[in-house]
Amino acid sequence: MSHTGPLKQRASRTRPGRTALISGASVAGPALAFWLNRRGFAVTVVEKAGAPRDGGYPVDVRGTALDVVRRMGILPRLREAHIDLRRLTFLDTDGGEVASVDPRALTGGAAGQDLEVRRGDLTGALHMAVRDDVEFLFDDSIDTLDQSGHGVDVTFRGGTARTFDLVFGADGLHSRTRGLVFGPAARFHRHLGLCFAGFTLPNTFGLLRETVLWNAPGRAAALYAVGDERDDVHALLVFAHPEPPPRALRDPAAQRELVTQVFAGAGWEVPGLLAALRDADDLFFDGVGQIRMDRWSRGRVALAGDAAHAPSFLTGQGSSLALAGAYMLAVSLDGRDHTAGFAAYEHGTRPFVTVNQDLIGEGGATLFPATAQGLRRRDAQLRRLAAAPPEAGRAGGRPAHSALTLPEFTPPA
Ligand SMILES: Cc1cc2nc3c(=O)[nH]c(=O)nc-3n(C[C@H](O)[C@H](O)[C@H](O)COP(=O)(O)OP(=O)(O)OC[C@H]3O[C@@H](n4cnc5c(N)ncnc54)[C@H](O)[C@@H]3O)c2cc1C
Repeated sequence: MSHTGPLKQRASRTRPGRTALISGASVAGPALAFWLNRRGFAVTVVEKAGAPRDGGYPVDVRGTALDVVRRMGILPRLREAHIDLRRLTFLDTDGGEVASVDPRALTGGAAGQDLEVRRGDLTGALHMAVRDDVEFLFDDSIDTLDQSGHGVDVTFRGGTARTFDLVFGADGLHSRTRGLVFGPAARFHRHLGLCFAGFTLPNTFGLLRETVLWNAPGRAAALYAVGDERDDVHALLVFAHPEPPPRALRDPAAQRELVTQVFAGAGWEVPGLLAALRDADDLFFDGVGQIRMDRWSRGRVALAGDAAHAPSFLTGQGSSLALAGAYMLAVSLDGRDHTAGFAAYEHGTRPFVTVNQDLIGEGGATLFPATAQGLRRRDAQLRRLAAAPPEAGRAGGRPAHSALTLPEFTPPA
């Protein structure tokens, strides 16, 4: 287990008060740590990986979430890291071009405002913003939680034990904290009928800051080039699978086997992608799903980000919900005990989460049509879109992205 961050905290930002443990140091975790620290919490973040989560696939920061990163002071840094993917080209089963469109025309992004950054750039900026003020425990994770006393007694896998006033699960779609406090994921996980495999490979395709998406009914292969030829491209193989595949979700060999089977005989560059998949050392496989829960807290433990309300990558809103939710959680605890604070968090955040989770209908059907008829219909829409004036109807972004106005966060007196 490695420790970073001062146990000696900056006096101007931290007054000894309530203590908080956050599980997860990706997006929701560090954002929550930042805002809790600003309100006088002594914060510890535990992360099972050895460092903040890196990874170069693009994530979006839009609407309300832009206000969160602006208030954190990291907006300029993220603006510099903006990828600005220039086009999204759809290919048919033979690899012929169907249509090439401005990505924002589909994602509902606001031109000149919304950000698309490598995930590592976002987690890096968030970590930098808090690392001097909170304690980080890398290579460790929560083993047990016990709320029977006046705080939460925590044992860590690394062998230590501590007590915190509050504990937060920001440990993603498969949150262990959620499992310990709320029970098995099956109760909250809504499978959306798709699975995906993501990995990187050399950019031998000559792609420059663009996405190419090949579709056949129920199967799709995407290449995201977030830089130029010197950067690896991110491949995403997505396919229809009505139920989550239990064996493949656990076993990398079974993942490769399933994906190879599903994409056998596919055209375009897919055979080369399958060869790259076999050798990839960064393969990431999962079902496409959402987390929908009736409540996000129990006792002194609350959930944030994907752990509480994953919207799935079909909405492109995972990072934005994680940022906005973390802010709302911290601000809701201001001047309130945890019971009232957690209730205020849910009350203030849930409508925003729901309207964004409900965007899946739009993303899934557009990007991954399941039937030949659906694919033909989609392609016809895309051709119309490609022929439309470039800025039509998207100057302000999709209303759901900004459907929450952040309350003010007054600095401690
Ligand atoms: C392939 C893919 C593409 C995506 N594309 C987009 C996109 O285009 N736009 C977008 O906005 N979002 C996208 N997302 C989603 C986005 O990455 C997440 O919604 C967002 O990162 C949520 O942040 P989070 O901090 O809640 O959870 P996560 O980013 O999942 O982070 C959870 C953290 O908790 C840690 N952790 C897990 N278990 C434990 C444990 N037991 N103990 C300690 N630490 C633990 C993990 O290591 C990780 O650091 C995509 C996701 C995937 C997988």
